[in-house]
Amino acid sequence: MEESVIREIYKLKTERNAVILAHSYQPPEIQDIADHVDDSLQLSRIAASADASVIVFCGVRFMAETAHILAPDKTVLLPEPKAGCPLADCIDVPSLRSIQAAFPNSLTVLYVNSPAEVKAESYACCTSANAFEVVESVPSDSVIFAPDRNLGMFISRRSDKEIHVWNGACRTHALADIQDIKKHIEEWPDAELLVHPETSPEIWELADAILGTGGMIRHIGSSRATRFIIGTEEGMVYKLKTLYPDRKFIAAGKIYCPNMKVTTLPKILDSLRNLEPVVLLDPAIREKAYAAVARMTEITG
Ligand code: SF4
Repeated sequence: MEESVIREIYKLKTERNAVILAHSYQPPEIQDIADHVDDSLQLSRIAASADASVIVFCGVRFMAETAHILAPDKTVLLPEPKAGCPLADCIDVPSLRSIQAAFPNSLTVLYVNSPAEVKAESYACCTSANAFEVVESVPSDSVIFAPDRNLGMFISRRSDKEIHVWNGACRTHALADIQDIKKHIEEWPDAELLVHPETSPEIWELADAILGTGGMIRHIGSSRATRFIIGTEEGMVYKLKTLYPDRKFIAAGKIYCPNMKVTTLPKILDSLRNLEPVVLLDPAIREKAYAAVARMTEITG
């Protein structure tokens, strides 16, 4: 059954001139059929430069929106429209405006894990990899950072700027349990512990490196270690095993994002068949959100 679905997906992909993009937290069977597996921003850049007219985005809504922001002339499909992100959904335009009114001299730096409408109200976007660089580069000593409080705290500890951190969090990375991690460290004392900055600060204290998913990939490529405990969503362990089959990867715990697992092969097939659900934004919002994403790119090159 699965094989016939996969065959049909490949056939329709060619007929539709489509490219399938999957986030590194997607289930193994989705990563296996994707043309590219990467972090959200990198996938959006691939969407913009791909020689394809249809983008099938296997991830969550804010990621597909970012692909549409960067590639407005292409049809961006989100195979499961219910694939949301509780972190992105914890902020909306009225609440951002109210904190902006409280700190009128601050510029807003917004993590890309946020809705397009909120990006449109921000000065610049950032990723977990470049958040510090973006905050340091914006022309103000006072910054509103949203929506992830752990990433905001991570930057605050390194920056001399006044940073007003939004009190949002990723429920998935909150599942990283310090006792589980300590057990893994005891069991694998030669392993490097790599954790995502969306985990809590008490976990950072134990880590060899605090990195986003792209940073983890690069770090492992240049590390002499052969074993790694991975403190982010468990789909990343599968991605790393495919990239580095000669290394050992241990999931730091049950860090599982249910929103990343709602996309299935039959839903991808339906989406290619019907060319829906399409992710579309109001053009005025798209343009303003594009300006915030473009500012990040100007800052970080
Ligand atoms: S892992 Fe966290 S930030 Fe990523 S999609 Fe899931 S809830 Fe959102």
